[in-house]
Amino acid sequence: MSAVADAPAPDLIDLRRTLHAIPEIGLHLPRTQAVVLDALAGLDIEITRGRALSSVVGVVRGSAPSPDPRPVVLLRADMDALPVHEEVAAPWISTHDGVMHACGHDLHTAALVGAAHQLCARRDELAGDVILMFQPGEEGPGGAAPMVEEGLLEAAGRPVDAAYAVHVFSAEHPLGVWFGRPGSLMAASDELTVTVVGDGGHGAAPHRTLDPVPVACEIVLALQTLVTRKFSIFDPVVVTVGRITAGTKNNIIGDRAVIDMTVRTFAPATREKALAVIERAARGICAAHGLGVEIERHTGYPATINDPDEQAFAEATIRDLFGAQRWVDQPFPEAGAEDMSVVMELVPGAYVNISACPLGVDPATAPDNHSPRAEFDDSVVPDMALFLTEIALRRCAALAHERSGGVPA
Ligand SMILES: [Zn+2]
Repeated sequence: MSAVADAPAPDLIDLRRTLHAIPEIGLHLPRTQAVVLDALAGLDIEITRGRALSSVVGVVRGSAPSPDPRPVVLLRADMDALPVHEEVAAPWISTHDGVMHACGHDLHTAALVGAAHQLCARRDELAGDVILMFQPGEEGPGGAAPMVEEGLLEAAGRPVDAAYAVHVFSAEHPLGVWFGRPGSLMAASDELTVTVVGDGGHGAAPHRTLDPVPVACEIVLALQTLVTRKFSIFDPVVVTVGRITAGTKNNIIGDRAVIDMTVRTFAPATREKALAVIERAARGICAAHGLGVEIERHTGYPATINDPDEQAFAEATIRDLFGAQRWVDQPFPEAGAEDMSVVMELVPGAYVNISACPLGVDPATAPDNHSPRAEFDDSVVPDMALFLTEIALRRCAALAHERSGGVPA
């Protein structure tokens, strides 16, 4: 038994619904942060609040024996919502107009609060320390990097050995099914803006101008050729031009054409190469036509790559806790991006998914995450909390065993 009597755990479903009703966007989530702090109050946890953002970091110190250095495991939940007007009919629907927990981060937050309570209650089984990472800004502009800058990974006083996160999905698999894969899981996501700089004039006399529009079109088509000719099909690259802007009227040639694109890659070397070859092609095509070019690069999240050993540990924990029938191997990575990748670049980790598709809804046709109609069945929250608790306990125990000279688990 813990020497300190910790506060009783809140009802996790109630907590999720409370969070769902007050969704907030970005790096500053004052109401969400207050709810989380309140739900952790009374626990013997070292709590730090973010300075540049409304993050919450908690450290649970275990009291089970372990050789030094005592293991450190990080568990992460994102807390932010999306600029979506909720169309779900539920009593706990968003009370913030135009903002919705459409990616289920409210379930993640409630689950991590649950794990905090369970870990405190089972402190005497915990052969190490657990860092609880409650992060804002996952949907942008990124909360993990400022949290790392503010000392997240040193919160326990020793390096982090392993990091884990769970994400819910509103479709695709039946309720309660866990899924994931080793290695590449999600893409790196970068943005490039290419501005073709010409010299406008009358639409009837293009030879007296430097028309940026056909040059921009040539660049857009060349990008798709680059994807197939410069990269292996087994190391995928996605280049999507989501926006082109040029001109004001059909008979006026404008000075500039602006091409905005997203670039998704799965390997760090490929990421650099993709950005470099796109820039080279844009510069070369503009130069060939005698036009100028300006290129802006906005670096996004790196690729999310599951450490094979941590992934295997997470999968084994899930199979053991919930049964093999609850686990599905995910055949391919997703080209979405995830802020947890910032932590997982620095610390080996595993990121796993669980379906929260409501019972009675066909997963094949259920609205996806980010839809105004996305529904998440919060009956999975206690399972998520149990998984987070168990993986922290088990990983610390395995590391302590290894460090005492035992055979690696
Ligand atoms: Zn999400």
